[in-house]
Amino acid sequence: MRLAKVLDRIEPSATIAAAAKAKELKASGKDVLSFTLGEPDFDTPAHIREAAKTAMDAGDTHYTPAGGTAELKQAICDHVRADCGVEYAPSQVVVSNGAKHSIHNALTALLDPGDEVVIPTPYWVSYSDLVRLTGAEPVFVPTTLEDGFVMSADRFREAITDKTRLVMLNSPGNPTGSVWPESVLREIAETCVERDITILTDEIYAKLTYGDAKAVSVATFGSEVRERLVVVNGVSKAYAMTGWRIGWTLSPEPLAKGMTKLQSQETSCPSSVSQAAAVAAVSGPQDCVGEMLAEFAKRRTYTLDRLRGIDGVKVGDPGGAFYAFIDVRSFFGKPLGESKRTVDNASDFAAALLEDALVATVTGDAF
Ligand code: PLP
Repeated sequence: MRLAKVLDRIEPSATIAAAAKAKELKASGKDVLSFTLGEPDFDTPAHIREAAKTAMDAGDTHYTPAGGTAELKQAICDHVRADCGVEYAPSQVVVSNGAKHSIHNALTALLDPGDEVVIPTPYWVSYSDLVRLTGAEPVFVPTTLEDGFVMSADRFREAITDKTRLVMLNSPGNPTGSVWPESVLREIAETCVERDITILTDEIYAKLTYGDAKAVSVATFGSEVRERLVVVNGVSKAYAMTGWRIGWTLSPEPLAKGMTKLQSQETSCPSSVSQAAAVAAVSGPQDCVGEMLAEFAKRRTYTLDRLRGIDGVKVGDPGGAFYAFIDVRSFFGKPLGESKRTVDNASDFAAALLEDALVATVTGDAF
């Protein structure tokens, strides 16, 4: 059987692959500590689970409209208004099977082969391959620990060519936890207005920030920006609902219509029961988010303190999300731990951590 060439353009998700390896070792009886998938370990809050049960018992177990139920779309609009004061209409919302699917829909509906997409690095592993699936090309703009993993507007402008169609933003970001200053986001957004470039802002970690860090939604920068903006969000991270697979986009109506058409052919609709649960998540009591955030904050402090206590490890100050992006370059070429093996790159380091210390991580190269 001949497989399509598109498969050669993409890799399996590095986080999912690392998690699968950790699971395999666990199943063989090894006591592995897994820091692989970006997955809250809390149970989905009880009132959300109850809403799903109620929906099932009420017979909400059939196809829904392709872009999501009217109830969930309205609940998302109300939620966005309450969170950041921006008014979106239900006709601008498309509900999909997770934020990853929302990003796939948006990129498929916006990009043609040969288009360029600016992605600041390090970036969430799936962005580049989701771009490549459309035939467009990712253009990477490196950021560093020293600049807080923030792409300046100048660096963005340098990356723009006449093929640039889109820029992908993610604040707070995976894997660095970096929360970008409002001034930088605004300047990038203004550049996009001037150069007619679409912005995809993945705000899935917006509710998970620590200390003084505050996530600002690009949607708050005015109607001219919103005309070329796709906001991606979902319930996976803030409500511990990764397995329910509900994400969404907010966008101008023509794009929302395009994505709905696409989705009607791809998946028919997102899960009806999960949508009912998502209504409870975004419109029910929000204390659960604060409770999980307080626990994440404790773990963050613990993790950063421990990492900073290791000679040679460098780590930034993640203002949001639940990741630590660690610089281990000082260990390359030197004998490591009890096994005294030497490692030359991040992948070798991650392999050594797993095999020698039973700690599963994801290699930084993937990002
Ligand atoms: N966006 C970012 C930045 C992520 O880190 C993830 C998951 O790790 C997603 C989107 C995917 O979210 P979902 O589970 O809703 O598809």
